[in-house]
Amino acid sequence: MTTSATAKRPQPAPPGRPYYLPVGNEEAVFEAAYHQGLSIVLKGPTGCGKTRFVEAMAHRLGRPLITVACHDDLTTADLVGRYLLRGGDTEWVDGPLTRAVREGAICYLDEVVEARQDTTVVLHPLADHRRELPIERLGVTLAAAPGFGLVVSYNPGYQSVLKDLKDSTRQRLVAIEFSFPAPDLEQRIVSREAGVDEATAALLVRLAGAIRRLETSGLREVSSTRVLVATGRLIAAGLDPRAAAVAAIAGPLTDDPAITRGLIEMIDVYLGTPGA
Ligand code: ADP
Repeated sequence: MTTSATAKRPQPAPPGRPYYLPVGNEEAVFEAAYHQGLSIVLKGPTGCGKTRFVEAMAHRLGRPLITVACHDDLTTADLVGRYLLRGGDTEWVDGPLTRAVREGAICYLDEVVEARQDTTVVLHPLADHRRELPIERLGVTLAAAPGFGLVVSYNPGYQSVLKDLKDSTRQRLVAIEFSFPAPDLEQRIVSREAGVDEATAALLVRLAGAIRRLETSGLREVSSTRVLVATGRLIAAGLDPRAAAVAAIAGPLTDDPAITRGLIEMIDVYLGTPGA
């Protein structure tokens, strides 16, 4: 290998401020929607920067961020709150959505289509002009505090038709489309995030580009910016680039032995065989 993990090592992001490199007009769209009280959907593949973007925007807008990773058991009560037994008494405990509504925080529901359908009952009045949260159990409807923002994400390629966002939900949201950053930007991101030099990052981005261009690979997901950052981190920790890519790119993407062999061949082409 001709690259080195130590040359031109980039500086880490200042503490407290999430590092986010804009890839288009997403910051302007987010700010405009937020200031107008409109809710936002971030659409794009996993690992392309959606979560980091929301963290950076919340910081920039000076709002606390409450993130909920949605899953198929997530109910309205998980979001809104429930009565819990505490020392013989029942006590109401706010869920993350209610906290965000009361505190004027930005609430980020990651992979929202995974949540159970009944959650739309509370999301719809919050997401549209009403900006209110009905809490059936308490018999109250809370008006969202100033500063509250609702942001959801979903991955259109990954979801089954059954789990697509309902039209009635979609039409309450301003959409920001995400895809993987252009190669020069992705190279800067990987270099900065992983702490490897730009030449090493460029090789990883070229490899990812080749994997993303495969049309009949049988892969459900392609190599994301996230897996490139993980590969770079292994390299920064001293692993050789080939071993790092096998562990952090080929391994997570597939369990199929034939596809794994194909990916390793590509890794050998782009990053070199061991000892070469
Ligand atoms: P998603 O939420 O889309 O699954 P993440 O926001 O978790 O993806 O991104 C995965 C990683 O990729 C981040 O932790 C960060 O290291 C990196 N990343 C991706 N895009 C960017 C970007 N535009 N600026 C900075 N880092 C990025």
